[in-house]
Amino acid sequence: MVPRQTLDSLVTSVASELMGVDATTMVAATQRVLAALVEHFDVDVSYLRHTDRERRATVLVAEWPPREDIPDPDPLAVVEFETADSVFRALEYATEPLVVRPDTDSADYQETIRKSSGIPEVAMACVPLVSRGESTGVLGFVKMGDRVWTSRELNVLKAIAALFAQLQARVVAEEKLRYIALHDDLTSLANRRALLEYMERRLEAGKPGPVATFFLDLDRLKALNDFLGHSAGDNFIQTLARRLETNLEPNDMIARLGGDEFVIVPAAPMDAVAAELEATRIQQFIGRRVSVGQESVSRGVSVGVALGIPGQTSVSDVLRRADHALLSAKSGGGNGVAVFTDAMRAQFELQDDVELNLRSAVSDGSLVLHYQPEVDLRTGRIVALEALVRWQHPTRGLLPPGAFVSVAEATNLAGELGRWVIRSACSQFAEWRQRGLASNVVMRINVSPVQLVSADFVERIEDVLHLFGIDGSSICLEITEHVVVQDLVRTRLTLRGLKRMGVQIAIDDFGTGYSSLSHLKALPVDAVKIDRGFVQSLGDSNDDLAIVKSIIGLAGSFGLGVVGEGVETAMAARTLVGLGCYRAQGFLIARPMPAADVEVQLREGRIPLDLDLPRAGRGVAPS
Ligand code: C2E
Ligand code: CA
Ligand code: CA
Repeated sequence: MVPRQTLDSLVTSVASELMGVDATTMVAATQRVLAALVEHFDVDVSYLRHTDRERRATVLVAEWPPREDIPDPDPLAVVEFETADSVFRALEYATEPLVVRPDTDSADYQETIRKSSGIPEVAMACVPLVSRGESTGVLGFVKMGDRVWTSRELNVLKAIAALFAQLQARVVAEEKLRYIALHDDLTSLANRRALLEYMERRLEAGKPGPVATFFLDLDRLKALNDFLGHSAGDNFIQTLARRLETNLEPNDMIARLGGDEFVIVPAAPMDAVAAELEATRIQQFIGRRVSVGQESVSRGVSVGVALGIPGQTSVSDVLRRADHALLSAKSGGGNGVAVFTDAMRAQFELQDDVELNLRSAVSDGSLVLHYQPEVDLRTGRIVALEALVRWQHPTRGLLPPGAFVSVAEATNLAGELGRWVIRSACSQFAEWRQRGLASNVVMRINVSPVQLVSADFVERIEDVLHLFGIDGSSICLEITEHVVVQDLVRTRLTLRGLKRMGVQIAIDDFGTGYSSLSHLKALPVDAVKIDRGFVQSLGDSNDDLAIVKSIIGLAGSFGLGVVGEGVETAMAARTLVGLGCYRAQGFLIARPMPAADVEVQLREGRIPLDLDLPRAGRGVAPS
């Protein structure tokens, strides 16, 4: 409280009262100052108003004493200059104090006061807040009846008004900085920092929950930027931001994390069912078309949903889960909604674990190769072995390649893993051959796309073959169709290099990708392996029969070998033989097995099959 004092010390004490004030404390501090001024100048009311230039209005900041029974809406809270009384109107651009006395002028103002207070006559002093020569507000005093203001008093009030003007300018600047710090500049939505602050508050123990979190990602936004230009992409994002604002509740948190990523946290608590419904609603209104310049475009959106429990789930956990769910929504083809589940949790834990431990697994001997024989169906003779990697995981048991190969590819470990596989398979192969086993057998090794495009791939293969004394033609590398299509030029170069060493190439999982005939013709490929999806049901599916037939025909016309994968039934095996595909692999014949077990079969040289083949198919197989 500012004590009653001399005029000069009054200014000093107001200055110190206002010194440390910011946006949050401004109103309270202003009230304290106004109260002191009311007392000091012996007036009845004092107020501070700011000018909102954009709205052309004067806005009440604080007043003293507080009014009783303020109507709602408060007619004094925001007053537009256009419709204001003559005193306020005169103050819109005023920079010098305006004093109004009962006996002077301004009949309509007196009228307003009379109506609102019931008091017939007042005296007023209105001292403009001036910042850079411009009026930014007013410090006002009202005295019932009459009062004379000395010029010395008015000068002191000007000094105090200047202090308020400074404070206001500072608060506005601080607010602007705070706004910039918490908003995305393209869309004016909240940014990551604002989102995190907000979520921290929502997830405090004792707050209502569950707190639903939606992670949104536009499908193929990049294509939009690429084809329509970046400003079109920006426009598109801005339109979506407005659409989110209009279709969501005013208190919902809508943040843009950059690019095409948005996060929404609805203000209302929601369970999983409600959250999924809401996510679907959002997904639908986002998916509606937007006009960008001349074009009308739409983008699907994928939404990942996760729930946070206040006091239990951390902000980063909720966001990570929503992000995981988003990934799963996207891998389902995009334009979908996925809620984070326990199954996802298990899968992502596994993935994290793999990422963490795979590197050491490559070097510490916990990777193993199993081998699956491939036979000539007519004789049962083993013609090839496919090396299939497994990971003897310390706690999770023997992991199939599906659990870690893709993680290796995503984390730059594919090269290391691949080198280990090639080396180990060749080393084992050479050892068998030294003991007179596997001499007419081909070793098949799976190669991941990343390996194939690495610059020194061909030399590395050459080194390994040389090291173990294996001729190139005893090796067959299996590549998938996808890699072939993705980088035809590079692939062709690598494959040619391999061909020069006599290394064979097979296209794996044939029929699932997009290789056209022309691709096949352009590449030095020796064989195709018919994807097991087509082979498994041979015998009871006519569709698959037609596809398998055409693959075999195609291979024949290009002079390529053909292998049937995934032979699980005698029916499938017989059908393959009937179509002229004799080489096959599958659980019916043999499962992938450890080296020691496959060695037993190599000694036999063949795996007896009872297929009950028609005579013609049983002839002596060419070796
Ligand atoms: P792939 O190259 O198509 O390998 C054949 C997969 O089919 C093997 O699964 C094998 O166990 C399975 N399989 C064989 N016969 C049958 C059958 O009759 N029925 C059924 N349902 N499945 C059969 P696996 O060992 O789990 O390998 C999966 C995939 O992992 C492989 O598919 C291959 O793409 C990849 N992979 C395996 N080893 C390696 C490797 O060393 N490097 C790379 N890059 N990928 C590998
Ligand atoms: Ca394979
Ligand atoms: Ca395959």
